[in-house]
Amino acid sequence: MTGTHATLPTTTDAGIPVESDEHSLTIGPDGPILLHDHYLIEQMAAFNRERVPERQPHAKGSGAFGRFQVTNDVSAFTKAAVFQPGTTTETVIRFSTVAGERGSPDTWRDVRGWALKFYTTEGNYDIVGNNTPVFFLRDPLKFGHFIRSQKRRADSNLRDHDMQWDFWTLSPESAHQVTYLMGDRGVPQSWRHMNLYGSHTYMWINDNGERYWVKYHFITDQGVENLTQDQADELVQLDTDFHTRDLFEAIERGERPSWTLNMQIMPFDDAKFYRFNPFDLTKVWPHADYPLIEVGKLILDRNPTDHHSQIEQGAWEPSNLVPGIGASPDKMLLGRMFAYADAHRYRIGANYNQIPVNAPQSPVHSYSTAGHMRYRLATDPVYAPNSKGGPEADATRYGEPGWHSDGDMVRTAYTLRAEDDDWGQAGALVRDVLSDSERTRLVDNVVGHLCAGVSEPVLQRAFDYWRNIDRDLGDRIEKGVRQ
Ligand code: NDP
Repeated sequence: MTGTHATLPTTTDAGIPVESDEHSLTIGPDGPILLHDHYLIEQMAAFNRERVPERQPHAKGSGAFGRFQVTNDVSAFTKAAVFQPGTTTETVIRFSTVAGERGSPDTWRDVRGWALKFYTTEGNYDIVGNNTPVFFLRDPLKFGHFIRSQKRRADSNLRDHDMQWDFWTLSPESAHQVTYLMGDRGVPQSWRHMNLYGSHTYMWINDNGERYWVKYHFITDQGVENLTQDQADELVQLDTDFHTRDLFEAIERGERPSWTLNMQIMPFDDAKFYRFNPFDLTKVWPHADYPLIEVGKLILDRNPTDHHSQIEQGAWEPSNLVPGIGASPDKMLLGRMFAYADAHRYRIGANYNQIPVNAPQSPVHSYSTAGHMRYRLATDPVYAPNSKGGPEADATRYGEPGWHSDGDMVRTAYTLRAEDDDWGQAGALVRDVLSDSERTRLVDNVVGHLCAGVSEPVLQRAFDYWRNIDRDLGDRIEKGVRQ
């Protein structure tokens, strides 16, 4: 016994008490170390293996636990247990930047990611979105190229604005998202002060089998607050973990950051004739067409106690859809339905869903078995169909929600509709939503970004890109760069 409380004896990972936390086993005090010092070997080997591969992208982030409380009755639109009146569901959320590595500054200008897991009574439901309602791309084939253009060069291992603008200006579908990113919302004050958009269009299905197309908007109850470029730059020097710290300390203080979930809901048949493609991830649905309908509140109230086990090894995937919720013909979503689970198998291992933070709180009756680090006991029979009493899939209750599709196999863009273009909604954001001072900061941010390493011919293309969004804005940006 030392001090005022009993000290637990250190053990090896196998639970065997050890003699010393300080000294290796040697031949005499000055002699060589012995290979059979298993405790020393265990210490060094475990240390070498403490990191799992960082996410590619969204490497830098943190999160918290909480709950989702339904406050409205949306049962007319979905039968999902998690959204039925009166339901409260435990959740875990992770926030992140996109392009930076695991130790990179929280306040770099970047889109912020968020990933939310609901531990529902019918399995885990995950939403993996951004703090912007749109994205840079509409086809997943371009995703890897896009992320590489935002990360580091092969030769110098440096980030490179010329590379970023080269990609953006050759990908005009990025215009709406780049406008959002270069505006005030490109650096949030904190994760608590940003909206969380599901961005993709998903399907909801009610008890009668009626289908709706939906978009998720978690509107922050703290209010949207952002940092100016100067404030963000200063924080890069002062505190690389500014957003991580903010969330952790707010919850430690007893604050309960919250977001109100609102949905845009489109009747299934509207999608066929809507004036632009409602599955195009580079576009929002105007509020005037599909107003927000309240669903409930997400409240964060508990910090992780082991960041690695509960957040770094956390695995969120848009393919975790529960009964009453389905995918849509959004090609980006369909690509992500593969990519996330694949990343987890690579990063964490085949049995990543058995790690406590990922394990569902509802029963699992899957036929998966074996693989690295499995600890949930498999039971016979390990195959289906079987006549031994194993679980049986139920097509009558759990039919795959889908939509009609036919045509030749092609590699081509979405069919264009009357109002499908790359510039219109970005221009509406600039002209109809931003104030004069917000527009001026947008110009300043773009000029600052372009003046940091962008050269011809990319520079001229960038001016044309901004003129396509808004002629006056493009002129101001060119003037700012050329002067
Ligand atoms: P509305 O006037 O109904 O909505 C404009 C929305 O813009 C606001 O509700 C707010 O969304 C968001 N907004 C406010 N200030 C900023 C800002 N500084 N930077 C970025 N977004 C801001 O118009 P529409 O629905 O017709 O959309 C017009 C444009 O607004 C769109 O082209 C899009 O760029 C932007 N927008 C639209 C959203 C939508 O889902 N319809 C969502 C977000 C932006 P919020 O309440 O979500 O903060």
